[in-house]
Amino acid sequence: MSNQFDAYIDSISTFLAILFIQGIVFRKLREVKPNWFLNHRTVLLLNILLGIYYGLIGIYFIWRGELDSATVIYTNMRMNILLITAIFGGRVPVSIAYSIMVLGRLLLGDSSPHDIKFILLLTGFFLICFIVTNFKLNLLKKYVIVFSCAIPVLAYYYFTDFGSRTILSYGEAIIYYFLFMVTSALLFAASNYIDKSNKTMFQLRNSAMTDMLTNLPNIRYFLNTFEKYFLTSSKKRRPLSLIIIDIDHFKQINDLHGHQAGNTVLSQFSAILKNHFLPKQALISRIGGEEFSILLPNITLSESTQIAEIIRSEIERAVFPYNPKSGNVTISLGVSCHNDLNVFYKTKENLFEAADQALYSAKQGGRNQVQASKKEA
Ligand code: GH3
Ligand code: MG
Ligand code: MG
Repeated sequence: MSNQFDAYIDSISTFLAILFIQGIVFRKLREVKPNWFLNHRTVLLLNILLGIYYGLIGIYFIWRGELDSATVIYTNMRMNILLITAIFGGRVPVSIAYSIMVLGRLLLGDSSPHDIKFILLLTGFFLICFIVTNFKLNLLKKYVIVFSCAIPVLAYYYFTDFGSRTILSYGEAIIYYFLFMVTSALLFAASNYIDKSNKTMFQLRNSAMTDMLTNLPNIRYFLNTFEKYFLTSSKKRRPLSLIIIDIDHFKQINDLHGHQAGNTVLSQFSAILKNHFLPKQALISRIGGEEFSILLPNITLSESTQIAEIIRSEIERAVFPYNPKSGNVTISLGVSCHNDLNVFYKTKENLFEAADQALYSAKQGGRNQVQASKKEA
């Protein structure tokens, strides 16, 4: 009995560790490659990898089950793999995990009747899980269905002698069945917790880094990225340009047309910036009330000044709904560049200061214009 207990504790802690590792990997991946979770093809790839991961864990449980004489405990865990991959991943991972486990059993086993019995059990349970993934039901109902449908499959496994080593008594069968249900519920709760907290963490992180009005990255995100880009630029001796944009006489728009009109201008202005064609790594952020910035790695001062000029004229020509007749929103822009024309800044703050100074000159020069930092000129 203590052997059974050890096996139970071992299998459940292994499973929890497996869920935890998967959770950490997925959290990191969501942080680094958020688009992977939106694109159909990469989601499929992730599901395939998930199926392989759980399939291999299934093989581990097959191997462990052979070592200890606690086959039923480990068999339950393989079934839990199907249940968890079906409910959280869907058809693709559950099918892959199932195929790998069957293949592993055929390769590792001795093709004894016992192996065939196991494969029949796994197939039966797989089909139940697979069908249940299609139901539009809440998770509890899915659970009840899976466990009710599993009774005949498990009864066959518990009581049929296929040259098998164990045939259970009714009492043992009932204990194993309930143990299986309870373990599944625990593993399910753990998966659900990890999955939910990963998603919440991602949403919180995103909202802390995004400006609500314009949906652009905010100053915090800008500063983080600025730090990274500046270090890379210094290390690789590649140029890094910075454009700071400030809307001209924005206070007047608020005063004449109301704060709401001002907000509409900010959103529309951001939309124009976002739609503007920029190099791949460019980062547009809202860094203040009506101040925006564009970071341009690998772009020289003359290139970024040209980009700034194109944006300036585009805004000058754009029609803003608060005042469709004139549409006269203009912007002033200051540009600076690190690692170009033999100009190097000691810190990112110095580079920012240079662009801000250039912006100040543009305002002084009559607004609606681009100025490049004097240091580079
Ligand atoms: P300048 O040409 O010198 O830049 O003049 P300005 O009026 O644009 O500059 P100033 O700094 O005097 O005014 C900026 C105004 O932007 C003041 C503030 O009320 C307004 N503002 C800041 N954030 C928001 C916002 O989120 N929505 C609205 N509607 N107004 C905002
Ligand atoms: Mg301002
Ligand atoms: Mg302004």
